[in-house]
Amino acid sequence: MAARLVVVSNRVGPVRGAARAGGLAVALVDALREAGGLWFGWSGRIAEQGQGAGGVQQDHFRGITTATLDLTAAEHHDYYNGFANQCLWPLFHYRIDLTAYDRRFYEGYQRVNVRFAQALQPLLRDDDVLWVHDYHLIPFAETLREMGAHHKIGFFLHIPFPSREVVLALPHHARLAQSFMAYDLLGFHTQRDVERFVDYMVNELGAEFDGTHLRAFGRKAMVRAFPIGIDAKAFADFVYSEDGQRQWQRASTALRGRTQIIGVDRLDYTKGIPERFAAFERLLADYPDARGRVEFLQVAPLSREGVAEYSEIRSRLEGAASRINGQYGEVDWTPLHYLNRTVSRRALAGLYRASKIGLVTPLRDGMNLVAKEYVAAQDPADPGVLVLSRFAGSAWQMKAALIINPYDTVEVAEALQTARYMPLDERRNRHAELMQDLIAHDVTDWRRSYLQALAEA
Ligand code: UDP
Repeated sequence: MAARLVVVSNRVGPVRGAARAGGLAVALVDALREAGGLWFGWSGRIAEQGQGAGGVQQDHFRGITTATLDLTAAEHHDYYNGFANQCLWPLFHYRIDLTAYDRRFYEGYQRVNVRFAQALQPLLRDDDVLWVHDYHLIPFAETLREMGAHHKIGFFLHIPFPSREVVLALPHHARLAQSFMAYDLLGFHTQRDVERFVDYMVNELGAEFDGTHLRAFGRKAMVRAFPIGIDAKAFADFVYSEDGQRQWQRASTALRGRTQIIGVDRLDYTKGIPERFAAFERLLADYPDARGRVEFLQVAPLSREGVAEYSEIRSRLEGAASRINGQYGEVDWTPLHYLNRTVSRRALAGLYRASKIGLVTPLRDGMNLVAKEYVAAQDPADPGVLVLSRFAGSAWQMKAALIINPYDTVEVAEALQTARYMPLDERRNRHAELMQDLIAHDVTDWRRSYLQALAEA
């Protein structure tokens, strides 16, 4: 019998209804189903003040077991909102200015990793293979190994790995580097992330690298890029779902022949949304023929509302949106539509299809799946154009998009104008090239190549 797969991630599930939650949940559920697996992590719940966090809660569904733990309010504050989201997240996205180096956050982070490892250990079988996800859980394998685990354990980082100088700003960077080395396989989104990680490990910590394996702290780990994909065919079908059709029709009717530009992001300072608003404003200022003919729809559901930077960016964007509409709007034309709601992925597919331009301008992004979903939702016979930041991981694969520097609002406005007037032939050629790659490197390919490499590591 094949080894059982144990997936460890900050949030578990959903296992029921994974298709609605999106690419990663589907990919992990598929992998777990093939291997009769276990998914372990935080339940998403916070225990009542004064109560302990309690023990592991197990659930079984179609061959998959989930095992989850609640966090106490203090753990949630220090580990999740603190070290993960106010320290590692901004730092790894190059926002040194927003990084909070609070020792209590770091201690809380270590403590939760220890508590999680202690809770998982009794559930492990000898031949289990473990796949640990993301920046919340970097010390997880090291902690388990200190308890005697000798399993094969892989790690995948879903956010960028920054350049060496940036990592050095982190007070505990060398401890974290040592934690990385407890894994057998370290996966990143792009070759650039691999290069930056290896550069840091070799030049800062004296590790040795032979092209595939890194040796340091008495251990050896394979290091490789595995760019995550989407299920492009399933996403294309979403356009024809009930929600997809409804949104497509609603948007098309409201547009009355105008061109829609679409942006879709969690409201996060890494996504370059203020810069995107500024580029749209530039388009209206520099290209008067866009006035009355172009509309920009930004979908930006709120996220991480417990962190101050997230409410700040929210009010900044509200100000910018009303200023642009106040300056350029007409009684029969609102240039910018800004929605702070979560839209289902099926409904998004319809909105992407109704949009002639997809505008994706993160200042840094591990991959950015929205760029891929926008392309998958287009009509191959008359596709829209993707304008994509060079700082998104996806830009390394999606070379047939119009690649821009999101800080350069003049360049982005020019790209929008180019996209508006791009001839049909060119749009079709670019789309076909992008689509071919999306199908060849879909999310199933991603998890299979990762798990194969882990089996061989
Ligand atoms: N998404 C969604 N509804 C929304 C906004 C986003 O379902 O209202 C989904 C989107 O379709 C994509 C994911 O959230 O699958 C965002 O992934 P991405 O890699 O672009 O960014 P992240 O949020 O992981 O940084």
